[in-house]
Amino acid sequence: MSETTNPERLSGRCLCGAVTFTAIPKHSMHACHCESCRRWTGGIYLGVECGDSLEVADPGAVAVYDSSDWATRSFCRTCGSTLFWTLKAGGLTAVSAQAFDDPSAFPFDSEIFIDSKPANYAFAGDRVRMTGADVFAQFAGGG
Ligand SMILES: [Zn+2]
Ligand SMILES: [Zn+2]
Repeated sequence: MSETTNPERLSGRCLCGAVTFTAIPKHSMHACHCESCRRWTGGIYLGVECGDSLEVADPGAVAVYDSSDWATRSFCRTCGSTLFWTLKAGGLTAVSAQAFDDPSAFPFDSEIFIDSKPANYAFAGDRVRMTGADVFAQFAGGG
């Protein structure tokens, strides 16, 4: 599968506006059903991979929670909006699709940790669906 990148820098913000940012996203959106994302967001995390391109106007407005050995989760200190999932090893930040000014810009092409999804909801439509083991194997194998 060829990878399509969108060279355009897009803007977004948290609910209260204390955090504004720009990033150059991959042209796709994933849903994560893992327990951490569900607790973090109060819903399902819809993330857009942005590599190392994220630029936050006022980094002091962002709180960072050390959520695992491999990643941190960032949110607005003022309004609590779910914002960024960042791989500690570097090279990958996923930005909440809903924080972008135009969330409809990203095709919904994958669901991860599908084996952690509660049984009382499911997204309609066909897309790639990966278990948690699939995701960890991809990180281990793909570097
Ligand atoms: Zn805010
Ligand atoms: Zn997750």
